Amino acid sequence: MLECVDPRTGRVVGAVPVDGPEDVARAVARAREASVAWAATGPKERAAHLVRIRDRILDEAEAIVATICAATGKQPAEAVTTEVTAVCETIGYYADHAARWLRDQPVHPGTMVHKRAWKRYEPVGVVGVISPWNYPFTLAMTPLVTALAAGNAVVLKPSEVTPAVGESIRGLFSGDEWPELVQVVQGGGPTGEALVRSGVDKIAFTGSGRTGRRVMAAAADTLTPVLLELGGKDPMIVCADADLDRAVRGAVWGSMQNSGQTCMSVERVYVDESVADEFVRRVVDEVGRIRQDDTGTGDIGSMTFGPQVDTVERHLADAVAKGARVLTGGRRVDRPGTWFEPTVLVDVDHGMEIMVEETFGPVLPIMVTRSVDEAVDLANDSRYGLNSSVWSADEAAATRIAERLESGNVCINDCIVSYAVTGLPFGGVKESGLGRVHGPEGLREFTNVKSILATRWRTPREPWWFPVPERLADLGIRAARLRYGSTWRHRLGR
Ligand code: NAD
Repeated sequence: MLECVDPRTGRVVGAVPVDGPEDVARAVARAREASVAWAATGPKERAAHLVRIRDRILDEAEAIVATICAATGKQPAEAVTTEVTAVCETIGYYADHAARWLRDQPVHPGTMVHKRAWKRYEPVGVVGVISPWNYPFTLAMTPLVTALAAGNAVVLKPSEVTPAVGESIRGLFSGDEWPELVQVVQGGGPTGEALVRSGVDKIAFTGSGRTGRRVMAAAADTLTPVLLELGGKDPMIVCADADLDRAVRGAVWGSMQNSGQTCMSVERVYVDESVADEFVRRVVDEVGRIRQDDTGTGDIGSMTFGPQVDTVERHLADAVAKGARVLTGGRRVDRPGTWFEPTVLVDVDHGMEIMVEETFGPVLPIMVTRSVDEAVDLANDSRYGLNSSVWSADEAAATRIAERLESGNVCINDCIVSYAVTGLPFGGVKESGLGRVHGPEGLREFTNVKSILATRWRTPREPWWFPVPERLADLGIRAARLRYGSTWRHRLGR
């Protein structure tokens, strides 16, 4: 059995059975059967079904939010905005746009003027979704509903840390007119690996780089394509001319919301030396005002996963041992559950784990820089490249900095929220992942593109068919010169 632990108290509040490889195989077989009829429906019918699921989410919103909070320790407001609303937005987006993006696309036939060519986007079949614990609803539902919108069936393996949210998702899809279309299998790594090896047609994995590598290696055995949404170490660059009020609040919110357990959390700040002292002072004041509690109306709650608190402590100890100064926080909160104080530290550098490894906790390390070039170099000095942010009063200058950052996403005078714009493809470069969710690119991740060519004028033969005409080589060179020559001399072969 998998225990459901409430991280706010450390108490076990439930349990769900674990699915073994045979259960996974049966779930994939059921999904495959359902996928045939689902693929045969049009995008409009699929959109109508997804909208019905969204209505169900809205009907059950309070219960879903309560389940998310009990599983993760986050505050209800966080669960409403970043989970329930985010999923409703994604469903609406694909319900509105999927038909257009899945429509056949004509392609110019080039020199083959007697042909007609087009692209067709077909569902891949069955998609295996493997999701993490930090946004257990959004990060399971986003690839899931996108794969459905593209015409696929889904087998979801939720995180073993938050299985109760997986059960809520199972409830949303059971008992409707497509009861087998979404299967949920519960368990940890072995269940996930069984899903990767089960013969599904694509894996959409969200989680750590360490597990992402294992998923990709296992998928290589069957050449199963993978979409990987992995970790980040997102930099924030604060320029000399930044609006400090906004930058300070942005830095604190971006590093502490969801207790810092967001793949796009602000994990490191580079602030220009001319404003650094004031920035640091105001950040510490702002952090002192964060309401961290379990009242349900505070700013942040507990962390979610005990071992993640160990990582936070390890990174902090390493930084302090190497000369960093903790200005506020730095310890576990003395109460049951997985609570950690909002923490700010300075005098940090890239020789410390806290500046190069994903910390994934309510921790903000701040480094002072002498120039924009130095800030950009430091921001890019990372294995990761998920999101990043630039803060400046000069949007044109900030945009030029954004263009230099090695990152799948960049926010200007904001952080994290690019994910909330569903039209923007989201994903990482470097070790932050492969492929994209959201936008047309995210939908087409769950399709195979089929290229079709048809012959418009049906003559008895093509000029290059057997028997090959004797003069074809000679005529071919002349035709090539005429078509591709960049000057008349080249075109006429003189
Ligand atoms: P994790 O890698 O430990 O686990 C993710 C999922 O993989 C879980 O469901 C787990 O059971 C499963 N799993 C474990 N071993 C497996 C195996 N061998 N084969 C298949 N599946 C296996 O990640 P986590 O701790 O749950 O989540 C936190 C991580 O996720 C952080 O690194 C965070 O940055 C990342 N993340 C990335 C994004 C993004 O969109 N890029 C979003 C959220 C979280």
